[in-house]
Amino acid sequence: MEPEEFRAAAHALVDWIADYRERIPELPVQSQVKPGDVAGLLPVSAPAAPESFDAVLRDLDHVVVPGITQVQHPNYYGWFPSNATLSSVLGDFATAGLGALGITWQSAPSLTEVEEVVVAWLRELTGVPETWYGVIQDTASTACLVALLAARERATDYSETRGGLQAEPAPMTVYTTEYAHSSIPKAVALAGFGMDNLRVVETDPWTRALRPAALAEAIAADVAEGRRPVAVVVNIGTTGTTAVDPLAEIVPIAREHGMWVHVDAAMAGSALLLPEQRGLVDGLEGADSLTWNPHKWMGTVLDCSLMYVADPEHLVRVMATDPSYLRSTVDGSVTQFKDWGIPLGRRFRALKLWFQLRLDGVEAIRDRLRRDLANARWLADQVEAAPRWRVLAPVSLQTVVLRHEPPDVVSPDGEVLDGAALDAHTLSWVDAINDSGRAFITPAKLDGRWSVRVSIGAEPTTAADVAALWDLLRSTAERG
Ligand SMILES: *Cc1c(COP(=O)(O)O)cnc(C)c1O
Repeated sequence: MEPEEFRAAAHALVDWIADYRERIPELPVQSQVKPGDVAGLLPVSAPAAPESFDAVLRDLDHVVVPGITQVQHPNYYGWFPSNATLSSVLGDFATAGLGALGITWQSAPSLTEVEEVVVAWLRELTGVPETWYGVIQDTASTACLVALLAARERATDYSETRGGLQAEPAPMTVYTTEYAHSSIPKAVALAGFGMDNLRVVETDPWTRALRPAALAEAIAADVAEGRRPVAVVVNIGTTGTTAVDPLAEIVPIAREHGMWVHVDAAMAGSALLLPEQRGLVDGLEGADSLTWNPHKWMGTVLDCSLMYVADPEHLVRVMATDPSYLRSTVDGSVTQFKDWGIPLGRRFRALKLWFQLRLDGVEAIRDRLRRDLANARWLADQVEAAPRWRVLAPVSLQTVVLRHEPPDVVSPDGEVLDGAALDAHTLSWVDAINDSGRAFITPAKLDGRWSVRVSIGAEPTTAADVAALWDLLRSTAERG
């Protein structure tokens, strides 16, 4: 494709994107397709001759859009806010158009240096210690794996240069809670610790936050039996209920044993943009790494995960590569992000952050986050005041975990009389809402019973939308 042909097609595509964004409120929130529907609309083999751009655009409408759950919809309250602000979309468009190759500083100095600057801006905006360094990883899952690899190698004085884990004398243990995101046990497994060495530390029954005394006990028991505590993953805003582990109390316990403290704030980290929410990570200066995803609530289009570390030397010692063909005359005086993570080639992800911050401005982003916190508080107040409705966990941020409890299955003082019937009722009214396409909420197990997560924070969701949702929840659940 020549640039002139691209110019015409790209203008049409931009128009298509703007039209699509405008009509999202009319689309069903949950995709209504069945497995195989989308693939069934496509030819089995690639076209031999070129097709028109119009034909491709038509298929965006007919094939692609119906197969998307509309997370940019004002009535999307599902898994977590997955905002893709149009300002950041412009940045991502520029990234693709530039086609820069991010393998070393020299291959695209601006790719490295814009990233360094934007990540430092966000460090300042979120109150992360100014001595820390940041890098953009693709996802929080990758960042946690990278943190645990660094923890493992620091604890073994870089065993990777010798016999690796297989030559270590004592098993190494990692600590977190049952409410940690599924990417945490996955990273423990992938980093070679083995699931037998993952400790699920007791939590408070209401806040679901890690109990520091239980952490200290678990560590002491492992030490007594000859194992080596190496890392703790602290959850700031768990996926289920946005539970917040007490970082400031965990850090001194971990420090005593030279353990790595990784803070997973993938969803909640956006709240750190609000000075009044910085208490979420009290004690951070004593930790080793922090991850959060601008690609969730803040609204930088997927994928964009910020990882901050107190000392990047640990990343570099574990992951640096130095093949002769990547040698350049400036080595040593520049940052080589290839040595701060797993992949060699990286996208120019900083551009979408740079565009979003410049075009939207941080105060507008902060206003939106505060709006969402207030909407969640409002909804929780309605649920608490309504008979036969219950809020099941503290509303620490923008997620409300709730349940409707019909009289025949739950006693007036909250005792569950028929758990199976309660579960069936919950799933039935949630499915009715999701299948209707009018709103999207996520059922999730909490303490062994189905509950409903209402995760507020889609970019277009207003207070009026949340009020309409509350009406919909009531009319659907109370009818059943
Ligand atoms: C979303 C989430 C993750 C995983 O994020 P990815 O970037 O999709 O890997 C991890 N931890 C928490 C708490 C999350 O909310």
